[in-house]
Amino acid sequence: MRCTACGRRAVYHRRYTGDFLCDRCLARSVERRFYRAIRKHNMIKPGERVAVAVSGGKDSVVCMHLLAEYCRSKRCELVAITVDEGIAGYRNRGIPVARKNAEALGIEHRIVSFKESFGATLDEILARAKEKGSGLGACTYCGVLRRSLLNRAARESGASKLATAHNLDDEVQAIMLNYVRSDLARLYRLGPVYQPREGFVPRIKPMREIPEKEIALYALLKGIEADWSECPYRGGIHLEIRDFINWLEENHPNSKFMILRMFDRMRPFLVSAVPEFRPKTCRVCGEPTSSDLCKACELLGELDIGAGS
Ligand code: SF4
Ligand code: ZN
Repeated sequence: MRCTACGRRAVYHRRYTGDFLCDRCLARSVERRFYRAIRKHNMIKPGERVAVAVSGGKDSVVCMHLLAEYCRSKRCELVAITVDEGIAGYRNRGIPVARKNAEALGIEHRIVSFKESFGATLDEILARAKEKGSGLGACTYCGVLRRSLLNRAARESGASKLATAHNLDDEVQAIMLNYVRSDLARLYRLGPVYQPREGFVPRIKPMREIPEKEIALYALLKGIEADWSECPYRGGIHLEIRDFINWLEENHPNSKFMILRMFDRMRPFLVSAVPEFRPKTCRVCGEPTSSDLCKACELLGELDIGAGS
């Protein structure tokens, strides 16, 4: 097959547009979407200091490479932050990859860990949760604690924005998950830019309109080193929703984009349904929160771990 745009040999069939793309045109399309998202949503201003969360996986490493290029052209500073959750046999593969890529790009790199910040690794937290008969899943603990730590690390690094590598698939899965859980407040927090109140570093998602498959191909075509392993805790409803959305896309190409577009059209109307956020300070850790105790300290306190216990 030939590339629909330039006639060279195609490497990818983009079913949702009906195009065939060669390596160059595919890479250009990924880059164009990335930079267009930044411009369209005014994500980064010239001269800003931007933090990027980098796990070492393909999405975050590609995000760091593209942001590095962008920041060079806009005289912005970039700092990479890696969270070591403490997942035996998994994170120890991603972290060296994140470090190597950051070094190659000449980017400052900070590693922060659950163990140092909260007093326990995710593995230890989950073992305690099991002992205590907690009904919460690994991703709930991991997500809450990682968000808190990333925010703290970004703020302490002097960053005014925190970029995360959520791609189209991640975003659509999160939309569906919040529908299924009927969680309006979390649903509202999705979107290209989330600007919480004081103490929170605004989060930006420049890869939100790029399908996961295209990011994976981009990494391969550009020879970008990444960790391709999957978290051993990934499972449950997250995987079921992922499989359902992939099935939908397979049978009805463009479904993922349609779900995203519909959500973006609805989002401005959701604001009135979300409870007003009254900024407070967590009485245990001092991080910003809407109640006396932040969610991270609440979860850890229930397990008698760290400062929250
Ligand atoms: Fe954490 Fe869940 Fe992601 Fe694993 S899959 S890194 S437990 S959020
Ligand atoms: Zn707290």
